[in-house]
Amino acid sequence: MKLTYPHMGNLYIVVRALLTSLGLDLVLPPPTSRRTAELGVRYSPEFACFPFKLNLGNYLEAEELGADTILMAGGVGPCRFGYYAQVQREILRDLGVDMEMVVLEPPDVGYRELTDKVRYLVGDCSWWRVVKSIRFAWQKALALDNVERELLYLRPRVLEPNSLEKRYRTAVEEIDAAPDSRAISRAVQEFFKTSRRMPQRQGRFLRVGLVGEIFTVLEPFANYDLERRLGRLGVQVERSIWLSAWINDHLFGGLLRVKGGLKHADRLASPYLNSFVGGHGRETVGGAVACALQDCDGVIQVAPLTCMPEIVAHSVLPSVSRDYGIPTLTLYLDEQSGEAGIQTRLEAFVDLMAARRRKGKGGMLDGSFSGY
Ligand code: SF4
Repeated sequence: MKLTYPHMGNLYIVVRALLTSLGLDLVLPPPTSRRTAELGVRYSPEFACFPFKLNLGNYLEAEELGADTILMAGGVGPCRFGYYAQVQREILRDLGVDMEMVVLEPPDVGYRELTDKVRYLVGDCSWWRVVKSIRFAWQKALALDNVERELLYLRPRVLEPNSLEKRYRTAVEEIDAAPDSRAISRAVQEFFKTSRRMPQRQGRFLRVGLVGEIFTVLEPFANYDLERRLGRLGVQVERSIWLSAWINDHLFGGLLRVKGGLKHADRLASPYLNSFVGGHGRETVGGAVACALQDCDGVIQVAPLTCMPEIVAHSVLPSVSRDYGIPTLTLYLDEQSGEAGIQTRLEAFVDLMAARRRKGKGGMLDGSFSGY
């Protein structure tokens, strides 16, 4: 069995650590690129969500490299994610692509189904080894989040952004290659030590909260490298969704204490949106409130075009904006989005946040803006 799975930011490193330590054979798709998008768009229904199209492109590229089994997560709730696997399976079959699909439904749907699928994948591996592998992968998830948090903090500050990006890539590669927890901490410490010594600008930097659909927040290809663009515009990004928090909430039932837990966001959202609307719609609203409480200068919501949960959240954001006096910008993205348009809207929003800060927050410049 040659397993593959779709990309979502640095998730591939965490999953690779888990599966290889269980002795499974992997064939990873190349990083998501224009070609991935072209393949996915060519064979997907026109109005499928952007992540669906990119996932499909990932599978087709992995198949070219020899993968024969796809591992993906299932989903429940009032959005299209729960149908991804079934529809993608049909598309691949129509294309004559012979790949098996193993769908891991979330534990809240049924532990038994999940454990059966895991048993099918890992064969006669002991449960103790499975737990050890999950622990190892979890350490990598925490390490990656720590390094990314530092990157977001330093991006607007350092005088040599290219050198910072290079150090970040090196740290990510070292975490990926780390054979044990000691090597993981060494990679993180080395990144902290060398990057903090880089020449930096002083001053108070604009801070913007990034909220929205998880795939679009975490996958730089899907969000047109939004975080890097904002960093280069001198803005510190406060991301609302982190890989470790997502794993903790969905796999460990929120048992661990992790920064950025989604349940906290649900609580903050409740005065505005008190029911589950699918995807991360409720967390988007809660994330926007959290950003306002942390005194951010603005909130940017990102979502795939036609994403229903984010459309619901978008309709609520003007109330958050009004109550907390914080401007919000919504960007709906897909394969048709133009880089120049995104850059222009970001620059305009950054100008607005800067003007608002100069006038004192809560002035006449508050409001909600949308971009398609
Ligand atoms: S959350 Fe949005 S993008 Fe993701 S599957 Fe649901 S509708 Fe599509």
